[in-house]
Amino acid sequence: MPDNPSKLLDLARIKDYQARYRADIHDDVYFGFPVSGILDAENILLSGGKNTIGYFSMEYGLATNVYNVFSSVLPLTTDNKLSDNEIISNDRIADYLFSLKIDSALDLPIYSGGLGVLAGDTVKTSADKKIPMAAVGILWNKGYFKQRFWFKFGQLPEEMKWDPATFPGLIPLEDKIKLELKDKDIYLRLWKYYVFNRERNFAIPLILLDSNVEENDEVTRRLTDRLYKSDDSDGRLLQRLILGMGGMKALEVLGYKINLYHLNEGHAAFAFVQKARQMDAKEYEAAKLQFCYTCHTPVPAGHDRFAISDLERIMKPQDVEAVKNFGLEGRDRDVVNLTLLAMNTSSSINAVSKKHGEVMKLQFPAYKKRIKAITNGVHSPTWMSEPILKALDPYREALGDFRQDPTLLKNVLKLKDDPDFRKAVWQAHQENKKSLSRFLSRWRIREDVLTICWARRIAAYKRPSLIFQDIERLKGMANRIGPIQILYAGKAHPNDSLAFTYINDIMNSIDKANGSEGNLKILMLENYDIYIAKMLVSSVDVWLNNPLPPYEASGTSGMKAIANGVLQLSTLDGWVAEAADKRIGKFFGYKDDGKTFTDGMVLRLEEDSKALYASLEEMMLFYYGINKDDGLNIRSPWIDMMVECIAEAAYFNTHRMVAEYMQDVWKF
Ligand SMILES: *Cc1c(COP(=O)(O)O)cnc(C)c1O
Repeated sequence: MPDNPSKLLDLARIKDYQARYRADIHDDVYFGFPVSGILDAENILLSGGKNTIGYFSMEYGLATNVYNVFSSVLPLTTDNKLSDNEIISNDRIADYLFSLKIDSALDLPIYSGGLGVLAGDTVKTSADKKIPMAAVGILWNKGYFKQRFWFKFGQLPEEMKWDPATFPGLIPLEDKIKLELKDKDIYLRLWKYYVFNRERNFAIPLILLDSNVEENDEVTRRLTDRLYKSDDSDGRLLQRLILGMGGMKALEVLGYKINLYHLNEGHAAFAFVQKARQMDAKEYEAAKLQFCYTCHTPVPAGHDRFAISDLERIMKPQDVEAVKNFGLEGRDRDVVNLTLLAMNTSSSINAVSKKHGEVMKLQFPAYKKRIKAITNGVHSPTWMSEPILKALDPYREALGDFRQDPTLLKNVLKLKDDPDFRKAVWQAHQENKKSLSRFLSRWRIREDVLTICWARRIAAYKRPSLIFQDIERLKGMANRIGPIQILYAGKAHPNDSLAFTYINDIMNSIDKANGSEGNLKILMLENYDIYIAKMLVSSVDVWLNNPLPPYEASGTSGMKAIANGVLQLSTLDGWVAEAADKRIGKFFGYKDDGKTFTDGMVLRLEEDSKALYASLEEMMLFYYGINKDDGLNIRSPWIDMMVECIAEAAYFNTHRMVAEYMQDVWKF
């Protein structure tokens, strides 16, 4: 190909290269990044080096707009920029006059929340460690959804629009694969996106499957429209077949020689069924050794079930047989459970925190001996703010190269009593807080006021409105001790009617705080995403996390916060239970005794909100004691806790997590 200067093009047949991608991919450049790292990684995958991994996930939150950002010669289209968002606050006039302007590229919109961010952080860290991995996911043509606030009444989900064809770093391949079903075939286009390591000399290809091609009928084309679209069962099943079976085919068509398949959640459990096509039942045991499975939630809605009759209607008979061998549930054996399918076809099963490991053993006693626990983490280079990193940089001699290896952050404890260090950490945080107050200047967010944030998916077990159980008490505390700013953000799954009512609750609570914004200011931000997350986790004073134990398998947002020296106000669940003896904030509320597990939740809003207020009151007293005689009290225990937070981030990161996967799951 005379007009193809890049070696990359010998590898990947890019659709529309001449017309669209020639200017961004040329010589040795790929959207502003070096091609050599891509070639190295591709060569190992193609030649079947040792320890090659196929990583499967329904969603990926890659933070493409805040870390390792690709450039393109094409100007960003409006569709690929973040839009302005509304805010609902108890400062009504500001809400009415302004919207929140965000001048940034869109993040690759193929995630809904923590599971996707975990997958993204795992792939990035694997790239940092130069692990030969190919990641598999779905190109969600319409993302998750766009959250619109419907003044005071809740959330109105809107269709999200973005343009894959002009998204920097994303390339469509000529390759298409065919997913063979009982009565028809589904054609899938393959897209590629490269996830670079921190040093930009290695990259992991992310393969995204897309059913929106002309060979398919209208309904089939829309299968890869919206992530977690759950209003029809056939659609849900087909999406999982695309990810699992389609994903396996994609790896094969691309020529990748994969030794191990890692299923991030049960969504991809059909991958084994595709593998089983090439063998007879006698060989199944050997095939299982190539699969490992990570379970991410004890909540029933997170475990996919389908009627066998539906599978029989849609899948080829031999594929249904393979599923029946491993995935049936219950006495009637008429339901397939993807969690069981994944567990029965893997050589490794793991939960995502120690607490979740215990819960999972109660849920699946038959698998007790096989269930491991590897606590989640976050990719530190993505989530640590520049001011905090810069504050730590001058202390490299004591700390070591923490940018390269975040487990060295533990060494901040050596500097705990160094007044200059304490001041540097405090000032870095104040700088972050200034950025926040500029970001929210229209709502007059102040940098000298205690600021609390609750932001994540809105789901019942996360108890989003816990802090609003008694607004009068909150007002009283703010009047008595010192002002409070509370920031809220989160999307509720459009089919989760209970979650919808929580948004409603929050808005009503904000209404009740109307007029008190001098001391108690509450803001609810529209369209929570990674961009807003990165801002919030580094710039508030207190990260609030109040799931009902034991339903939060891990949680990761608090890990992003501690890496920035932000204190926790949390129930003891998920990862936080592992830090129960650490001075990283305050823990409160119901404790699960770990003896039994039931699906039916009792939310305990009344008692736990009281415990929350008591702990918050203590934190407020602490916070407003930082400044003594109008100057910073550098010995304040608050700053002790900030330093302890950063020290704990040495453990709660994906650098440590991926090392554990290498040793205990992938067995490198
Ligand atoms: C980290 C993150 C989450 C996960 O939050 P949890 O508190 O762990 O549930 C969800 N959404 C976004 C955008 C995130 O960045």
